[in-house]
Amino acid sequence: MSLAVLGATGSIGASTLDVVARHPGRFEVFALTANGSAERLLELCRLHRPRYAVLSGAAEDRDLARQFSAAGSELLFGAAALERVVSDSRCKVVMAGIVGAAGLPSTLAAVVAGKRVLLANKEALVMAGPLVMRAARASGAQILPVDSEHNAVFQCFFEKKSIRKIVLTASGGPFRTAPLESLERVTPEQACAHPNWVMGRKISVDSATMMNKGLEVIEARWLFDMAPEAIEVVIHPQSIVHSMVEYVDGSVIAQLSNPDMRVPIAHALAYPERIESGARHLDLTQHKGLSFEQPDHSRFPCLGLAYAALRAGGTAPAVLNAANEVAVEAFLGGRLGFNGIARVIRDTMAEVPGGPVDALPAVLAADRKARATASALVMAQAA
Ligand code: NAD
Ligand code: MG
Repeated sequence: MSLAVLGATGSIGASTLDVVARHPGRFEVFALTANGSAERLLELCRLHRPRYAVLSGAAEDRDLARQFSAAGSELLFGAAALERVVSDSRCKVVMAGIVGAAGLPSTLAAVVAGKRVLLANKEALVMAGPLVMRAARASGAQILPVDSEHNAVFQCFFEKKSIRKIVLTASGGPFRTAPLESLERVTPEQACAHPNWVMGRKISVDSATMMNKGLEVIEARWLFDMAPEAIEVVIHPQSIVHSMVEYVDGSVIAQLSNPDMRVPIAHALAYPERIESGARHLDLTQHKGLSFEQPDHSRFPCLGLAYAALRAGGTAPAVLNAANEVAVEAFLGGRLGFNGIARVIRDTMAEVPGGPVDALPAVLAADRKARATASALVMAQAA
């Protein structure tokens, strides 16, 4: 099966290539992509021998292209090359592992081309859920969720009409029990030190604010065609139960594993078969207990903002997502306090008018407008 890994140099990319390497002969790596880390991408090409490598954030560079060519890969430059490789008829499976709004055009192109799309890039569905799902119905693309919660729901999802609700679990991140007044002063390093998962910096901050769960509620709305009222969030600090589906008869089906992204990735890669992922065996007797609690909305205002954007519909989730990306980048760059993230998102949503999501340009225009507004709000907060 020939596979393109978008975002190969990231955390999801590394876990994907780890699973692939455990199954020699099963997958053929067709393309590997990165935004800028050319050296890391070259190392990966030497290991996995893809036909194409893409440096989407770089301009043409002949020397670099020669080095990749010596490793057996043709190097392509620029963001448009992402769409070209995922649409290539020789490519069958696409791991959408780019972080943020930057992943939307390539994810959508893979869906339009009718590929099997392993979806880690949740922001694509948050921004353009109706467009992506409509394109999948038209092309016959199969979207398999890689986000651990959605992969869990997918594994527990039978007979939609008998489902009462979906319960997404959340670890609560590093600040679940920190004194509220201490949050204003937390550093990017503290925010990125997730108790259970090692992930890229953007999603780590999203986990600390719980915006990650908010984005996942919106992602679940589109993946499973569920009403917002039927999607619930529960805090489960141990990250063993990855999500649950409740049926009308009162049965609850859950998926459990140690917190290791190779589990959902292996599931999506081999579906409907099962393959070894490399994850540690889950021994429940070694756990002192699994606990569940309601999220505290005053501690995690981003969760409420995401539900509000989902209910508002149209371009509101794209505005939420763009404001979040700007605010998180400002926080990581030391230009905004941790509590400022939610404030910037809330004020951006109030300022940027919503509109319908009828085509990609409307989504991208809302994204641009929200980024400009959020950037101005960050500057105003810093002043
Ligand atoms: P990461 O920061 O570790 O890696 C991001 C990858 O995307 C890198 O390969 C980078 O080169 C590429 N990239 C960054 N900006 C780009 C741009 N402008 N254009 C093209 N490529 C670009 O991120 P990650 O943690 O691997 O997350 C990737 C996606 O998977 C995110 O949407 C995240 O929400 C989702 N996800 C991640 C995890 C996890 O455990 N890491 C779990 C669930 C979902
Ligand atoms: Mg998740």
